[in-house]
Amino acid sequence: MDDLLLVIHALSVPDIMSFDLAVRLATRHAEHLYRQRPLLESPQGPEVTVDGQHLLAFCSNDYLGLANHPEVIRALRQGAARWGVGGGASHLVCGHSTPHHELEAALADFTGRPRALLFSTGYMANLAAVTALVGQGDTVLEDRLNHASLLDAGLLSEARFSRYLHNDAASLAGRLEKATGATLVVTDGVFSMDGDLADLPALCAEARRKNAWVMVDDAHGFGPLGAHGGGIVEHFGLGLDAVPVLVGTLGKAFGTAGAFVAGSEELVETLIQFARPYIYTTSQPPAVACATLKSLELLRHEHWRREHLARLIARFRQGAAGIGLTLLDSPTPIQPLLIGTSERTLKLSGLLRERGILVGAIRPPTVPAGSARLRITLSAAHSEAQMERLLVCLDECWSILAKEADSDA
Ligand code: PMP
Repeated sequence: MDDLLLVIHALSVPDIMSFDLAVRLATRHAEHLYRQRPLLESPQGPEVTVDGQHLLAFCSNDYLGLANHPEVIRALRQGAARWGVGGGASHLVCGHSTPHHELEAALADFTGRPRALLFSTGYMANLAAVTALVGQGDTVLEDRLNHASLLDAGLLSEARFSRYLHNDAASLAGRLEKATGATLVVTDGVFSMDGDLADLPALCAEARRKNAWVMVDDAHGFGPLGAHGGGIVEHFGLGLDAVPVLVGTLGKAFGTAGAFVAGSEELVETLIQFARPYIYTTSQPPAVACATLKSLELLRHEHWRREHLARLIARFRQGAAGIGLTLLDSPTPIQPLLIGTSERTLKLSGLLRERGILVGAIRPPTVPAGSARLRITLSAAHSEAQMERLLVCLDECWSILAKEADSDA
């Protein structure tokens, strides 16, 4: 015992810290929740090289295939040649340059809102909007399956924070009854891990009854949804009165990086004046704004991308049903296959990987316990043949998993 005490006393603080962290990491492993970062050795696209292996990828959010588009790359190059690389400073100091300003005007026009404000990431845009709009004494009500950045924003805001049942207007109505102060109702437009659409007409009607403001984060809807890619608000035909706070991200269907909040003149000025995640951060490189201006043009006008994607989604769902797979009920490029345990989900993604298919194994805490899944995403960049190959491999791997489950039983 004395010897043990001597050893413990001899340990330095970094040793003890490393030991504590190693225990935490080992627990993560044992629970099948340890995450690896696949090392991408090629550009984004339907075919990628990861850790030396050539794979067909069904896991990126590049829904319209713009992340590696030659015209977008050219715009970025020309932007860097003209404006340099770094943003240089925060927007309020001297980091707000002409490409940022032009992109904001183009995004306002695209969303049909008076103004739009550019952010470097969607995470920051969500933190900024929620924390600038509500605080102590106010209420923020969120769908329980909202993206982590929205849930974090609710907690950070110091408003009374409550989560209603997923996409359930009656559950929202119950919480609205108890709301105090300014009340903000926040929902994903397309739910990032389930792929379903928020029931915005019903949610907005409840919010209006109580004069609550609605904020929609449509990170996954802009691009694939709406006749011109205007996302869920275009899909449902909802204007500024129904959805006064509209968030979009640029790292998904736009294929670049950053995010925006669109709304009234007063909303955008309030964010510029009060939103700490806007004020205290460097602006995104102006060349990225140049690239996004080009991708916005392609996203709005190249309708064949949305049409091809819609055909792939329909065919994939039909094919999956044909081989006995039950996908979550999603009309979007996010097509999750619910598995349940993290262990089985990892097993299935491993079997697919052996056959040259890369899909995301999504586990808690990203999704609720017991609902681990494969998050299969389709893109306009995929060919029908690539999607058919995915179905063949899914069929094979699913049978292997089912046989193993039978022999374990
Ligand atoms: N909102 C949603 C719904 C998302 O899925 C994501 C990213 N996965 C974000 C916000 C954050 O966006 P960004 O990656 O630009 O930080």
